[in-house]
Amino acid sequence: MNFNKKQLTIYNSLEGKKVLFNPIKDGFVGLYVCGPTVYNKVHLGNCRTFISFDMVYRYLLHLGYKVRYVRNITDVGHLVDDSDQGEDKILKKARLEKIEPMEVVQQYTLDFHKVMNDFNCLSPNIEPTATGHIMEQIEMIRVIIDNGFAYESNGSVYFDVEKYNRKQNYGELSGRKIEDLISNTRELDGQTEKRGPFDFAIWKKASSEHIMKWRSPWGFGFPGWHLECSAMSTKYLGDEFDIHGGGMDLKFPHHECEIAQAMASNGKKPVRYWMHGNMLTLNGKKMSKSIDNSILPGELFSGENDFMDKPFDPMVVRFFMMQAHYRSTLDFTSEALSAAEKGYHRLLNTINEIENLPTNVDSSESVLKIVKSFYDAMNDDFNTPVLIANIFEAVKYINSVKKGDETISSSDRQLLKEEMSTFLFYVLGLKDSNLKSEDRLSPVMDLLLQLREEARNNKDWKTSDKIRDGLASIGITIKDSKNGSSWD
Ligand SMILES: [Zn+2]
Repeated sequence: MNFNKKQLTIYNSLEGKKVLFNPIKDGFVGLYVCGPTVYNKVHLGNCRTFISFDMVYRYLLHLGYKVRYVRNITDVGHLVDDSDQGEDKILKKARLEKIEPMEVVQQYTLDFHKVMNDFNCLSPNIEPTATGHIMEQIEMIRVIIDNGFAYESNGSVYFDVEKYNRKQNYGELSGRKIEDLISNTRELDGQTEKRGPFDFAIWKKASSEHIMKWRSPWGFGFPGWHLECSAMSTKYLGDEFDIHGGGMDLKFPHHECEIAQAMASNGKKPVRYWMHGNMLTLNGKKMSKSIDNSILPGELFSGENDFMDKPFDPMVVRFFMMQAHYRSTLDFTSEALSAAEKGYHRLLNTINEIENLPTNVDSSESVLKIVKSFYDAMNDDFNTPVLIANIFEAVKYINSVKKGDETISSSDRQLLKEEMSTFLFYVLGLKDSNLKSEDRLSPVMDLLLQLREEARNNKDWKTSDKIRDGLASIGITIKDSKNGSSWD
């Protein structure tokens, strides 16, 4: 079932309001999400952003869009201090742990993928790395310089914000008035390489001891962080694409700089819809390592932390996150997670009970209306809390049918089961963790044995052997007997 996908609205940060989603190319969506900087274990706040956009990606797919989802890995050039000063975070970690920068990158990329997998996030279609796109970044810098919006200074290249702002509107995304900011901060600026205090590095000169550096027309150095997203989104999604997502904290300066870089290189606004996810708090306070108020995903799953009474399953955490709108802040507390856990299990139990419901000629409720309410919620800027509330309304109805107070027809029972499963498991990306892998494998094996049986009946020995040998190679043995085949 698919209610009109033309009804999807998205809150566009650029316009500051909800607008009808209208992709550049009918039926296709280009989606870019700023990925992690891999110098540390991914923290829960970042996970929330990635889980939110996983839900967005899943719903777009469910609506029938062909989506190209790009999420980068920042593996170089992210300085400790956003004002282009300080140390590269990856280098700092490598120095502290006495390992190669690429070992840091590898270790934390693997950790990131594991956590994303724990949270049941789908992989993006392309996961480009900054180090793999140095040429593209150098080329973009060259074009921006040629267009007069960047200048070289002592081996580094800076984006000329004031000059850009004279022609375009720097600050259009964040709503900041750069004229005011500049006049307020000029006195404080002591950095001599930059012409203006808001100029940002798109290429940084590397000192002799800097390990991660590349040859460029401006000498040895490395690209600025803002630039990699512009270079990679342009490469894989084009000069103009549909949706760019990221955490609220990236709106300024990161995303503002992305717009400026794209406009300065090709004169086009890169993104139609900017989407920003909100933050997580822990027990009412901002999560921060420095004030000892933070928790890692692994610590949440294992229960080894000072904040929660017990461990929580990743699917309960995901369900809990989905109970808040992606643009609202969300507070993690043990009580709230426990409540989510109960609700989630109640939902899973109800879904498993639907097929045993007694049926009637007619349904006392309009199941179509219930299903439409699922779509209406998601079409309203991916309103997952309303979707979940509507799913719980369906749970009430199911329980009434069970008690005999209401009725459901056989076709409606089928429809309700299908749609509830679709929204819970596919769109919200949840899964029933109680199902053991053996339980999941069993129906797959039944299907394979059935295919092999058919092949044998058709004397297609090549296919039947291929199935048997293929399974043997992963340690599964097929046993043939008079009563049919079994596996072990
Ligand atoms: Zn980015």
